[in-house]
Amino acid sequence: MLDAHSSLAKPLVLVVEDEAALATMLRYNLEKQGFRVEEAADGQEALTRISETQPDLVLLDWMLPVMSGIEVCRQIRRRPNTRDLPVIMVSARAEDQDAVRGLNTGADDYITKPFNMDALLARMRALLRRSNTVATKATLAFHDITMDLSTHRVSRNGRAVHLGPTEFRLMEFFLQHPRRVFSREELLDAVWGADIHVEPRTVDVHIRRLRKSINGEGELDVVRTVRAAGYALDTEPV
Ligand code: CA
Repeated sequence: MLDAHSSLAKPLVLVVEDEAALATMLRYNLEKQGFRVEEAADGQEALTRISETQPDLVLLDWMLPVMSGIEVCRQIRRRPNTRDLPVIMVSARAEDQDAVRGLNTGADDYITKPFNMDALLARMRALLRRSNTVATKATLAFHDITMDLSTHRVSRNGRAVHLGPTEFRLMEFFLQHPRRVFSREELLDAVWGADIHVEPRTVDVHIRRLRKSINGEGELDVVRTVRAAGYALDTEPV
């Protein structure tokens, strides 16, 4: 969260690229154009960096170690918190068929290596303009809780609530489906992604953390535990 205010005007781009020379070239050019840049060298690291840094746009290489760009893109689209994150797929493959596949998995745009930097910048800016229009409208609310998706700020009864990345995604998912009961498995699918192997018990840990953050002293517990069924965002007594 450090320095989030001063750099708010500069969009954060996550460059997912395993060719170090290309990553360095992209960082150099993007920083020169007023972007902030984070890097990830494989697919798994990309997902971690996305959770940690909440970028405004992802430049995603197709051929990556550990997890392919296609799979990373699928996971980005599956998670409520990153569903609308702009993704540009970057690939050495020139076949139209691959471009179609890339866009089918949820990439917003597709560019083939070697690419022209100006062309890439134009596409990035167009995409950011589109996503900002959507993001500024996105506020979720329930009871005395509000979540601003563009600034990632959560507040309860006027008090700022600080949530970890997983708790934020959990809360976002609950806010999108208030009062609905979700099993641990459903929450894992929606918040962690179906292909990530996490123990259902992990959900309990994050629910506990979420409660600790969102329920202030003397405030109503808004997370309802439904025995043998799961959890819901609800103000009804247990
Ligand atoms: Ca590559």
